[in-house]
Amino acid sequence: MKKSNRKLLLGEEEIACRVAELAAEISAEYEGRKVLLVCVLKGAVVFASDLMRRLKIPVEIDFIAVSSYGSDTASSGVVRILKDLDSSIQGKEILIVEDIVDTGLTLDYLRKNLLSRKPKSLKVVTLLDKPARRQVEFTPDYCGFEIPDHFVVGYGLDFNEDYRQLPGIHILNLEF
Ligand code: 5GP
Repeated sequence: MKKSNRKLLLGEEEIACRVAELAAEISAEYEGRKVLLVCVLKGAVVFASDLMRRLKIPVEIDFIAVSSYGSDTASSGVVRILKDLDSSIQGKEILIVEDIVDTGLTLDYLRKNLLSRKPKSLKVVTLLDKPARRQVEFTPDYCGFEIPDHFVVGYGLDFNEDYRQLPGIHILNLEF
């Protein structure tokens, strides 16, 4: 039987402050324009909902789901779309909202896929970035926090669908 324990990495208030800063930065950059937030399911829902309520520009939101780690904590390197966007993004200003960039494979694939649909612009905001684990070159346009190479849960991020509801972000240790 698995016993899990966790250690707080980022608290609720620290996250809220950084989300407000990101929203201010994005609002200034997109001033006078409307942006379509593409929220990557499921992990980014909490971040996207907090971020969008802080934005001062008009926004729309759509959702996309891609294959991720499944029940493992290591990337398979295979990315596929499980749920596509509801409508066309042609000519729109797109901001992909992601929870975490790890190997970079998911966002590298997503960015290329969405660019082929001819948006007016496409940028990426991620709450967390683990640059130490990169397998492909990828730099998000906006990033909340760079974190060390640990598996984290909470604030939307899961392990086997658990822990998403935690208000803070925690490092998960698994003891077998
Ligand atoms: P990448 O393709 O960059 O390796 O991985 C991106 C996806 O892997 C994220 O959207 C997330 O679903 C998952 N992931 C990567 N690192 C972590 C982590 O530390 N914790 C959790 N819960 N998911 C992670």
